[in-house]
Amino acid sequence: MTAPDATRPVDVLTVEAIVDVTPSVRRVVLTGTPEAVAAAGPTISLLVPRVDDPAPRWPAVARDGRIVWPTGSHGVSLRSYTARRQDPGRAEVEIDFVLHGDGPAAAWAAAARPGSVVAVAGGGPLGERPAGWLLLAGDETALPAITRILAEAPPATRGVALVEVAGADEEQPLPAPEGVAIRWLHRNGTPPGESTLLADAVAALDRPAAEDLFAWVAAESAAVRTVRADLRGRWGLGRAQHHAIGYWRRGRAMSPTG
Ligand SMILES: Cc1cc2nc3c(=O)[nH]c(=O)nc-3n(C[C@H](O)[C@H](O)[C@H](O)COP(=O)(O)OP(=O)(O)OC[C@H]3O[C@@H](n4cnc5c(N)ncnc54)[C@H](O)[C@@H]3O)c2cc1C
Repeated sequence: MTAPDATRPVDVLTVEAIVDVTPSVRRVVLTGTPEAVAAAGPTISLLVPRVDDPAPRWPAVARDGRIVWPTGSHGVSLRSYTARRQDPGRAEVEIDFVLHGDGPAAAWAAAARPGSVVAVAGGGPLGERPAGWLLLAGDETALPAITRILAEAPPATRGVALVEVAGADEEQPLPAPEGVAIRWLHRNGTPPGESTLLADAVAALDRPAAEDLFAWVAAESAAVRTVRADLRGRWGLGRAQHHAIGYWRRGRAMSPTG
């Protein structure tokens, strides 16, 4: 019989290939067992080892999903990422990292080479719901999720996708149903986390007449708070009609490094 406090090891994935998609987005293709790839997403609790650490001490995962950290220094940071693509058949999972600076995850991605390793503690949903009319609003960090939501949306879906990026060279191909308008918002030199582009763009949208509508929002936390308040207030969206989550916090690491 398994002990109630039994843990399982995390899934370790190995870098297979790296593609610089835009000046600030690095796509890392990871490989692992088909089961590990299937479990790695769409959102991922990613365990990122310190750059140049040849022997990270991975945590384990308890039966209730809790991460059980080794005692003492382990050199591993927990961050949330999105599997832009998961293909258990080819044993591949693809993550787009925004290279924003020297946080553990961005630094790991900048230094990653084929053969580098990272681990997955678990996967979760994106938080979207099927609806006839979709509002998607996010920045570069949300683009992998927006790509996936649009790719999986039924062809008859209508709506708007607002994507804030640094400039034209950060735009990516974004296949979408014909009725979904894609609008790229360029920061044009304003640092990430300091722009009001997303909030302004949402504020300029009238609530669509469709009752069957859903809004999905992810970006820097303060921007998301503003958009969420607008959608709840002016658009009158109830909890079941929106998912608005801060994907990162300006000036703050997402969690401590061990
Ligand atoms: C569910 C979920 C899914 C996510 N998916 C993705 C994804 O697919 N791709 C992706 O790149 N990110 C994604 N993110 C965001 C990512 O987790 C954060 O950007 C995270 O802070 C990166 O960790 P780090 O170790 O590089 O930096 P941290 O140690 O967390 O932060 C260090 C410093 O960098 C700053 N910082 C963090 N992110 C950014 C940024 N994007 N631009 C500018 N400054 C920043 C912080 O404010 C802080 O000052 C996701 C977040 C969530 C919650």
